[in-house]
Amino acid sequence: MSWDDLPQIDLYSDGGAEPNPGKGGFGVILSYKGRIKEFSVGYELTTNNRMELMAVIFGLEKIKTKAKVTVYSDSKYVVDGIKQGWAVGWERDHWIKKKGNLVLNKDLWQRLLDVIDKHDVVFNWVKGHDGHIENERCDQLASNGINSEHKIKDEGYLEYLENIEYYQEQKIEKEGDACRKCETLVVKKSPKKRKLKPGQNYYYEYYLFCPNCKTMYMVEDAKRTIDQQGNSLFE
Ligand SMILES: [Zn+2]
Repeated sequence: MSWDDLPQIDLYSDGGAEPNPGKGGFGVILSYKGRIKEFSVGYELTTNNRMELMAVIFGLEKIKTKAKVTVYSDSKYVVDGIKQGWAVGWERDHWIKKKGNLVLNKDLWQRLLDVIDKHDVVFNWVKGHDGHIENERCDQLASNGINSEHKIKDEGYLEYLENIEYYQEQKIEKEGDACRKCETLVVKKSPKKRKLKPGQNYYYEYYLFCPNCKTMYMVEDAKRTIDQQGNSLFE
């Protein structure tokens, strides 16, 4: 079967928890040749990021024959984790972060990589709550899940709890580390050029930035000191 013969499927997803962590839900739409299938699932206790991951996994696992799938998610955590190659890197490192701790939500990242392998999958990030019709619909389906009376248990939540304490104590040091506030994976950014203040003998070449909650992290590795001569320019 050649590439062009594969069925082409669009997968839209959204997930969330209220509060975070708290009761959760996700919504998924699968679209194939104009035919649409909708799913809505609720969980007793989970997190935003777990629901965003679960939504994509659930949708992909519903597809029974090899397909070309385009995923649309408003989660930077999910989309960057795949597109920037971080999840593949974690798998290669056997899901162990520094000091022997596990990658956060390892269970779901592993499941996601496994199901991606069965298809040809492309990920797209869409801005949430921005009038994107299918994204809005998925948001509604996720809410239906959160408010449903038949919620199921997120079996991986306990392992998540064991790991999260470690993460909240960690320094943010490099791209792909999890933001302490929202767990989204941070990216490198270059600061706008600005003049040094008189007497300032250092600057940061880059900083780490959470694309979700916009928190900035200054890192020691990016700190550059300026020699006396450079400094004297300001005297
Ligand atoms: Zn964040």
